[in-house]
Amino acid sequence: MRNLQKMVLVFALAFCSIAGDSKTSKAKITAVKESIYVVYSSSFSPDMAMKMRKEIEQFYQVKTKTLPPVSLPKKTMTAIEGRYQANRILDWMKEKYRNKNAKVLLLTNADICTDRNLNGKINPNYRIFGLGVRTGNFCVVTISRFGNKKVEKKLAYVVLHELGHNYGLEHCTTPHCMMKDAQGKGANIENEPKQFCKKCRKILN
Ligand SMILES: [Zn+2]
Ligand SMILES: [Zn+2]
Repeated sequence: MRNLQKMVLVFALAFCSIAGDSKTSKAKITAVKESIYVVYSSSFSPDMAMKMRKEIEQFYQVKTKTLPPVSLPKKTMTAIEGRYQANRILDWMKEKYRNKNAKVLLLTNADICTDRNLNGKINPNYRIFGLGVRTGNFCVVTISRFGNKKVEKKLAYVVLHELGHNYGLEHCTTPHCMMKDAQGKGANIENEPKQFCKKCRKILN
């Protein structure tokens, strides 16, 4: 289960509410010559998926393509009704899209979870925003915890964060860096700048 160990997760990122440094403009990322596939659950808004494609294209300077909608398979469910194991979803995606040889992002409105270690205690079936394989091709992001406000902004933030893991980035401690870990705390991500710190940008490039 080497891949499981590589999986890194994101929660609601806990930030102070001070606005980001406005001098630091959007991350300049060297163009990566590849396509990222975007697939979504059949109940997910195609319009929102299209918006996320634009966000990804703009931020990572890549092309994106949409794949046919999917239903999350039963084998990825947990014992809790309506909650899915994100690690199992990633395993399933790895199998399903093995011939793509490209990154695949799954967007869903289902509850997704993982076993999360918080302060030395394992919280099983802990609800998360997203999960991405670090240095890999697969990530899953849900809107289920975003409420009704600024869903698009929150979603874009988590999508770019998870893809950051796919591109090899770990969690980062620099304030206002998009790779900051959440530590299981509440979200204020809609007010955060969509940018990586210098250190993360260097790794990406
Ligand atoms: Zn993360
Ligand atoms: Zn960083």
